[in-house]
Amino acid sequence: MYPRSEHNISRTQISDNALKVLYRLKKEGFDAYLVGGCVRDLLLGREPKDFDVVTDADPEEIRKIFRNCRLIGRRFRLAHVHFGREVIEVATFRGEGAEQSDKQMLDKEGRLLRDNVYGTIEEDVWRRDFTVNALYYNIKDYSVVDYVGGMADHKAGILRLIGDPETRFREDPVRMLRAVRFAAKLGFNLHPDCQKAIHATASLLDSIPSARLYDEMLKLFFGGNSLQTFEMLRHYGLFQVLFPATEKSLAVEEEGFPKQFLIRALQNADNRIAEGKTVTAYFLLAAFMWEPVQMLAKDMLKKDMPEYMAFQEAANQALSKQIKIVAMPKHITTAMREVWGLQPKFNARVGSKPSRLLTHPRFRAGYDFLLLRAETGSVDPELAEWWTRYHQADENEQRKMTQPARNTQKKSGFKRNYRRTAQKSPKETQ
Ligand code: ATP
Ligand code: MG
Repeated sequence: MYPRSEHNISRTQISDNALKVLYRLKKEGFDAYLVGGCVRDLLLGREPKDFDVVTDADPEEIRKIFRNCRLIGRRFRLAHVHFGREVIEVATFRGEGAEQSDKQMLDKEGRLLRDNVYGTIEEDVWRRDFTVNALYYNIKDYSVVDYVGGMADHKAGILRLIGDPETRFREDPVRMLRAVRFAAKLGFNLHPDCQKAIHATASLLDSIPSARLYDEMLKLFFGGNSLQTFEMLRHYGLFQVLFPATEKSLAVEEEGFPKQFLIRALQNADNRIAEGKTVTAYFLLAAFMWEPVQMLAKDMLKKDMPEYMAFQEAANQALSKQIKIVAMPKHITTAMREVWGLQPKFNARVGSKPSRLLTHPRFRAGYDFLLLRAETGSVDPELAEWWTRYHQADENEQRKMTQPARNTQKKSGFKRNYRRTAQKSPKETQ
């Protein structure tokens, strides 16, 4: 036990609503602790994403205490206490039976034994994943309770699994993704035993339901450390389980370009998050899948399929395989297709097409995607610059920019076409 004088968690860092819940439980005679990621983050002086509370009150007792409370979950019930938009999750300590299947929960007569679903803090601690995630902040005396050496690991910046690493990863392979996510987010190192176990069990990730992997994937790549996370996932052979086609496409380097594109997209995402901007899932996922789609389309073009059909078919094939592993919702894949579909349209710079493109609901995403391609050499930067000027220009200028060049054959390349237009337009060269 670390008394208040031996740690740096102060109540001013804790959300008022979480404090209300803790104090209320205490007043009713129950034990109440903060646990998990919030304690870990508070010890680092970081603002936690959310606050999780554990108590010895059972869910029915919790419900009686809080009016603004909803119980969720079937076998293991949790309480959500609502304060406007903030939700404080309140869980009862888990007992040894909490992880077992319902079958194991039956007695000789086949009756359901519910008693050992809920337990004590000493039982609750062992089901948690990492030692630094198993620290309890006690509202009674503001101490931190540590059964597993989590404080020492926290100070040393080590992610160590509680118990035998391989067994814990086999129990729940998603813990491997959590290991990488926390390492990247906190700047911690994986304990050598944990690293070894990941190499041994990485392939087990493919047994995880695709919907759960989608949720985890969002946490991995939209937390502001996506580039480092990506590199670690690749290092441990986890990325290839999540995005096999992307991993394969990264092995094929065209003057180093394919690799740069995704890296740039991830860097951009991290920068945006650092600036407090949002990153849309479909944009980054479109970047993930761009190379595999391109490669598939190239194969189809070799088989004499028309270009437009080849890209659509490539997108269909790539997405239908990918969603079996990571279940991307339909609205996401639709938007990804739109971003891809806009790319060839940016080549048209004369006539009414450019102004129509501006009104496309995905213009901004498509344009950002074009910029990324230009930055990494897969598109002429001059084309991206043209669109930058064009979408910022007033209507008059826009009209001038899209005027067909005189003396130019209609079928001539857009680039040549554009250069002549630019030379002839005095406004352009100013
Ligand atoms: P975050 O900052 O992402 O919220 P977190 O550690 O709080 O990180 P949660 O998913 O909110 O992660 O889980 C809260 C706590 O529940 C964890 O700290 C850990 O103790 C426990 N936990 C969550 N998922 C698992 C798991 N798959 N296996 C074991 N313990 C888990
Ligand atoms: Mg949490």
